[in-house]
Amino acid sequence: MNNTEFTPLLLDWYRHHARDLPWRRTRDPYCIWVSEIMLQQTRVAAVIGYYTRFLDAFPTVDALADGSEEQLLSLWQGLGYYSRARNLHRAAREIKVRGGFPETYDELRALPGIGAYTAGAIASAAFGLPTPAVDGNVLRVMSRLTDNHGDIQLPSTRREIEAEVLRHFPESPDDARIFNQALMELGATVCVPNAPPKCTQCPVSGYCLARERGTAETLPVRAAKKARRVEARTVLVLCRENRVALRKRPGRGLLAGLWEFPNADGVLSEADVTALLSAWGLSPVDWYQKLSAKHIFTHIEWHMTGYIVSVTGDDTQQFSWADADALQTYAVPSAFARFREAAAVQLSEANNA
Ligand code: SF4
Repeated sequence: MNNTEFTPLLLDWYRHHARDLPWRRTRDPYCIWVSEIMLQQTRVAAVIGYYTRFLDAFPTVDALADGSEEQLLSLWQGLGYYSRARNLHRAAREIKVRGGFPETYDELRALPGIGAYTAGAIASAAFGLPTPAVDGNVLRVMSRLTDNHGDIQLPSTRREIEAEVLRHFPESPDDARIFNQALMELGATVCVPNAPPKCTQCPVSGYCLARERGTAETLPVRAAKKARRVEARTVLVLCRENRVALRKRPGRGLLAGLWEFPNADGVLSEADVTALLSAWGLSPVDWYQKLSAKHIFTHIEWHMTGYIVSVTGDDTQQFSWADADALQTYAVPSAFARFREAAAVQLSEANNA
């Protein structure tokens, strides 16, 4: 794919057909950075509201640096992958100390939570630098355009694709700002995943080797993933005097520092839960409901059984006991969303009783 018409055709298509997204209307590296971090692992439609609320609360990198982790995690609630939020916070503090936003790829890459993709995306969109930003969309589009059958999970394939993107990068900063975006947009709206590519609508179909050779739907190649580990857990929504018990997770590891409903390994019977409560200084009064939920992390799947149970006694665990209003303010990860909903219903019923 060497034709010099490829890049202008793609850019022209982007300028006329791209979706209007709030982070595409700015050149502020801080706003672009926030959007890129949110868009990792999260769909565009879901990110828009979070992005707007986040920038209302933290309009500048200094405001984010000075903000509390509790407020940050609360704004992040529901987006998942909370280490992204913590890294944003750490990086904002580093940027404040250095006295301004870094303007080169290497300086950006050195910040916490900024990998090759994000550094490339910010350096191009904010500063007009010729830096590839290769995400899943770009891997798919470029694999097809060049009929590359390498496993896209291998660093060597990624490097080949980055080199190919770089070969086509436009020289003018105004064009460079949107080139990565244009490739991603093509992947998101035309050369789509999980469905046949819409080649008849593709502005660069004339340069596509996979289309010419009939291989598009077999690309990109991705070797089979390892199965996730399944963990059984029992989650307890403990109600006492119109409040529910929450506890803070440890500061390291999965969902570090977030709030959760008390829980334990395995599938526990009512008798097991009673014994556990007793060890915590509590006794069951009423068993209201049994429920179940599943949550998928990158490498682990939680299969959860839950009990809503009213308790009496003084806990030895020093749980936080939250009423209906306070419950909404705790940063509880979406893994516990089903139990949080059930807790809110239980508290409102108790309040109305
Ligand atoms: Fe993708 Fe089809 Fe365009 Fe090739 S022609 S890049 S397969 S949409």
